[in-house]
Amino acid sequence: MQISKKEIESVKRSYELAAVIESYGVKLTKKGSNYVGLCPFHKEKTPSFTVNPKTNLYHCFGCNAGGDVIGFVTKKEGIGFREAYEKLNGAQKSRRAEGKGKSRNTEHSDKNS
Ligand SMILES: [Zn+2]
Repeated sequence: MQISKKEIESVKRSYELAAVIESYGVKLTKKGSNYVGLCPFHKEKTPSFTVNPKTNLYHCFGCNAGGDVIGFVTKKEGIGFREAYEKLNGAQKSRRAEGKGKSRNTEHSDKNS
């Protein structure tokens, strides 16, 4: 099964790249209209890793890494495009599902005393 461009776009749009990157432990600081931080892909002391919240793209001036949210997850986790897409899409779905059936307490009476 092929993932359509539309599906990919919708996943990309539903994620704030800066937030996803921070969830991987990269500290970003707002600088002008961009976010900058230490690149997670190469060792550096001065931040050259830039995230543009407008385009939702990242770019590192140190090692030339760059891309979108799916590309970031692909590179950071060392997984394939499809896996990264499904991971993001799945997380999005479970977030939606949580709102519905969360109040159900799985309290089986397993007290055999
Ligand atoms: Zn870099």
